[in-house]
Amino acid sequence: MSLVALITAGGTFLLIVVGAAISGLYLLVCRIWPFRACKRCKGLGRLHAPSGKAWRDCPRCKGTGRKLRIGRRLWNHAERAKRNAI
Ligand SMILES: [Zn+2]
Repeated sequence: MSLVALITAGGTFLLIVVGAAISGLYLLVCRIWPFRACKRCKGLGRLHAPSGKAWRDCPRCKGTGRKLRIGRRLWNHAERAKRNAI
């Protein structure tokens, strides 16, 4: 094996390890903090009329002010798949 091939293989391996570590960490963070604030209402769960007094539930988050993060959705999907497999 040439040195170049060795370095390339090592770099690829490192990239995979780092990538796996980052996604693992991200999934862990998504497990601890599964939600993020809804962008539309900034996590308030309601949208104010221009007058400032009237408001209605934010339709995007259904008034909860929170959105499930993509990582957590993937986690839930994986958990469900695991449960179905047993
Ligand atoms: Zn919202």
